[in-house]
Amino acid sequence: MDSPIPSPARGFSTRAIHAGQRPDPTTGAVMTPVYLTSTYVQERPGEHKGYEYSRTRNPTRDALEANVADLEGGAAGVAFASGLAATHAVLSLLDAGDRVLLGHDVYGGTYRLIDKVLARQGLSYAVVDTTDLEAVRRALEVSTQLVWFESPTNPLLCVSDVAAVADLAHRAGALVVVDNTFATPYLQTPLALGADLVVHSLTKYLGGHSDVVGGMVVAREAELAERVRFLQNAVGAVPGPLDCFLVLRGIKTLAVRMERHCDNAERVAGALQGHARVRAVHYPGLSSHPGHDLARRQMRRFGGMVSFELDADLEQTRVFAGSAGLFALAESLGGVESLLDHPATMTHASVPRAERLKAGFTDSLIRLSVGLEDYGDLWADLEGAFATLG
Ligand SMILES: *Cc1c(COP(=O)(O)O)cnc(C)c1O
Repeated sequence: MDSPIPSPARGFSTRAIHAGQRPDPTTGAVMTPVYLTSTYVQERPGEHKGYEYSRTRNPTRDALEANVADLEGGAAGVAFASGLAATHAVLSLLDAGDRVLLGHDVYGGTYRLIDKVLARQGLSYAVVDTTDLEAVRRALEVSTQLVWFESPTNPLLCVSDVAAVADLAHRAGALVVVDNTFATPYLQTPLALGADLVVHSLTKYLGGHSDVVGGMVVAREAELAERVRFLQNAVGAVPGPLDCFLVLRGIKTLAVRMERHCDNAERVAGALQGHARVRAVHYPGLSSHPGHDLARRQMRRFGGMVSFELDADLEQTRVFAGSAGLFALAESLGGVESLLDHPATMTHASVPRAERLKAGFTDSLIRLSVGLEDYGDLWADLEGAFATLG
């Protein structure tokens, strides 16, 4: 199912809706069918239409892979059952004894996979603050095979210079991987900035409706994509066709959703910044954010995630977090609905307190995934939560 739409000749929304998809050749169905089949009949032994077994290839999955590859500007996409399965596949390109340089503020599950699983199998790693290019350069003096980072990060929305980090890593002979889950290809395309691979949790903005778990790897070069595709089939953590369909459907509205996420998040961040009970607001769209200029250069807009430090202690912060109504108290992000997270007791509870403080966030940090509801209702909800602080 090659895309009938040549790209990048067309705009982002056009590609989001059409890339990788064409009306079903058998029936004319406009939407990509959900091919619920594990196997495919062969005309003669070894002669088939390119599909033998659905761990290896499935037409619904093909459409999703081609779609995300197009949006990220890569040679090919390879889909997985979750973002962490995609992460695992990329790290499985490495051998025992290889070294990974890991951004300091990466997704907790990525850190756990490396620290608790892959380190046992002989992978070594070091953590570096990728916003500090001199620190990256020094860390790369030790032989390193892969550099993995996010921008913006979670939960502090730190922005790293993707092109500069990629350049340093390439000079040291390392592969460069950017987890682009927070930005999405609508806001940022790391492959164009020099990354070799992009990883996504499709569970978040690409799916966009909090109803599916999935992951994706997109490679700039076909050869590297083939190596990831080999692992997809050899390890077998593939998504089902219905999950692929749901993500394809979500992506059709990615551009309009991201514009609205950004509109609402910018307004929430601005209002929080002026609030007497807020000590600090972390949002790359604010001119006070240390990564603001960089974000302006490498991102289209600034995203839907906002975090802030309350002027409150742990107990008051927990009351605040529990008293929002529209902002549902839940982990995850990127859906149409707004979510509120208390990192110290929820998403980042496994990070030791001393490390959290070192990274720059306290027990009173709140993280918002700002959804698509009406701004007035969202702000009224937060004002209700502020009222609990007295
Ligand atoms: C959620 C998330 C992941 C992991 O994805 P799953 O689909 O939950 O396995 C990886 N990176 C980031 C930035 C995430 O937010």
